[in-house]
Amino acid sequence: MSGLLVGVDIGGTKTHAIVLDSAGQLVAEVRRPSRPGADGVLQTAREAVAAVTELAGCSPAEVAAVGVGIPGRVDPEGGVVHTAVNLQVDELPLGPLLMEDLGIPVAIENDVKAAACGVVSQLPQAAGNLLYLNFGTGVAAAAIREGRLVRGLDNVAGEIGHLSVDPHGQQCLCGQRGCLELAAGGGPLSLRLAADGLELPSLLEAAANGDSRAGIEAERLLNGMTTAILVMALSHGSSMIALNGGVIHTCRGLVESLRDELASRARSSAFLASLELGSRLHQVPADSPVAAVGAALIGQELTRAGLLSQSL
Ligand SMILES: [Zn+2]
Repeated sequence: MSGLLVGVDIGGTKTHAIVLDSAGQLVAEVRRPSRPGADGVLQTAREAVAAVTELAGCSPAEVAAVGVGIPGRVDPEGGVVHTAVNLQVDELPLGPLLMEDLGIPVAIENDVKAAACGVVSQLPQAAGNLLYLNFGTGVAAAAIREGRLVRGLDNVAGEIGHLSVDPHGQQCLCGQRGCLELAAGGGPLSLRLAADGLELPSLLEAAANGDSRAGIEAERLLNGMTTAILVMALSHGSSMIALNGGVIHTCRGLVESLRDELASRARSSAFLASLELGSRLHQVPADSPVAAVGAALIGQELTRAGLLSQSL
């Protein structure tokens, strides 16, 4: 075998590594716990690559590129990860260090942006135009236009979780008040639900049954998600809108309720109706390895562009 691609998705608790063959088919995959701290993350990535290539039965010489998706602000050109809070990393030149270690071209990308690339590769009907929103512990998004990832200056495009929508709201870890992430992020939401004796899977049912606290939280969640979708659609155009993340997969009936909310708003706004947002929603299947696949494809893309082979 040759021209194999390795994709690694380093999450706050778990790391998922895959090998794709030159036709993009999955050859092998492994999951490992993620270790925190700069040294822990480097070690985790190194071991995940070694384990998955061993499982695939391939040598480093057969691997064309390694792509890594990781939370935090990522500089893909320098291969540097900044402020990956959940992994306790302030700054880590993960790309150059891994490249030196493995002797293979390595590309690094933010995990949500990598996942967007994975999703668009699996949706030919998107024709290279996709908005991707991840409602996990936090909230973040990515846009792909005409097949290219929109990174934005300083790679900050898509960090919409820290859009303050309520200046008098709860204080966010980022220092602002009333961030979108507080309304629609699984971390803050689960804390509030637990304090009220509620659970995320049955939140919408409890709200429909007349539980007033559940009603307030359900409304806050749906409003937050709708605002997140609008921000992305109004910035980039309302192309296909993929939804992913623990909140989406855990809260029963959420995507249907979101469609109802968008339809209700569209009935009183011809402008919103013209965007056809509800019909553009696509729920990414739970446990789909889109971040690892996307990371592998980013590795391939950068290698093809010749950017990484020159810096080896
Ligand atoms: Zn914030």
